[in-house]
Amino acid sequence: MPAVLYIVVPCYNEQEVLPITAPMFLQKIRDLAAAGKISDESRVLFVNDGSKDKTWEIISGLAREDEHYLGISQSRNRGHQNAVLAGLMEAKDRCDITISIDCDGQDDINAMDKMVDEYLNGCEVVYGVRESRDTDTFFKRFTAQSFYKFLSAMGAEVVYNHADYRLVSSRVLQEFANFKEVNLFLRGMIPLVGFKSTCVGYSRAERIAGKSHYPLKKMLALAVDGITSLSVKPLHMITGFGVLVAFASFIGVLWAIVTALLGRAVAGWASTTCIVCFVSGVQLICLGIIGEYVGKIYMETKQRPRYIISERTWNEEK
Ligand code: UDP
Ligand code: MG
Repeated sequence: MPAVLYIVVPCYNEQEVLPITAPMFLQKIRDLAAAGKISDESRVLFVNDGSKDKTWEIISGLAREDEHYLGISQSRNRGHQNAVLAGLMEAKDRCDITISIDCDGQDDINAMDKMVDEYLNGCEVVYGVRESRDTDTFFKRFTAQSFYKFLSAMGAEVVYNHADYRLVSSRVLQEFANFKEVNLFLRGMIPLVGFKSTCVGYSRAERIAGKSHYPLKKMLALAVDGITSLSVKPLHMITGFGVLVAFASFIGVLWAIVTALLGRAVAGWASTTCIVCFVSGVQLICLGIIGEYVGKIYMETKQRPRYIISERTWNEEK
């Protein structure tokens, strides 16, 4: 019996692009099923992330049209990571493999063939890795690449140029369900589950329609989330930096004493002000970084649900 595949697609305000990409996902399932690689029980599972436009109406309409389309709706907008998680958790008991993909057509759907092949070869996780970013603007390419470099410099291990386009088997998802953290950074968490994995390259296309929901501000927030949920390296760096500043201050104090003893003490207003400004700036930054972690702990202790599904396109008893 071939594997049942669920394609998990997060959608937020995607009314322009959904009618174009949904049939593409369906066709991919048909093609893979026709090739005997997956079962015809495979489905496209849309996760409406509290869209304010007609996205949910479109999803419900698709589900009525063809049984291969399924949809769940989150009770409100919670962000891409939570939407993907909701879809994966919903899918994990109904299928053998999941592939998460954005709904804007930027990720090459044809890479799914290779992903499924790798699964059939025994891999439980297959990361989609962007090989070229020719279609991205220079700015997007530059910020996105700096993002990966910055993450790994900060001790958060991620697969280079991999976003959230990946195949994950339900076996891995069952284990992943035990990762209870509220701060989600899926691309850094899935590697922690382990199991045999590999990468499949694809080239990234332009968004078919609509506009990106990941402006620089959200990318920065995602980077901070990624670092603080995967690594405590910034805290170590603060300690290291503190030692350095303390050492420099010690030398400064020695210098001050020596000049005073030699009777050459000058007003020294400028240097004093500089040092005070510098050290207080450093302290504020360090406090801020520690605060980020305290904030994370605060959110984790609340143990709020990571997603709330308000509607499904199917009857739950079924
Ligand atoms: N998305 C979501 N919730 C959000 C923001 C985005 O589910 O709050 C979805 C969006 O519909 C898309 C995917 O996440 O399918 C990636 O978003 P986008 O294409 O805007 O990001 P980019 O590709 O520009 O990084
Ligand atoms: Mg996109």
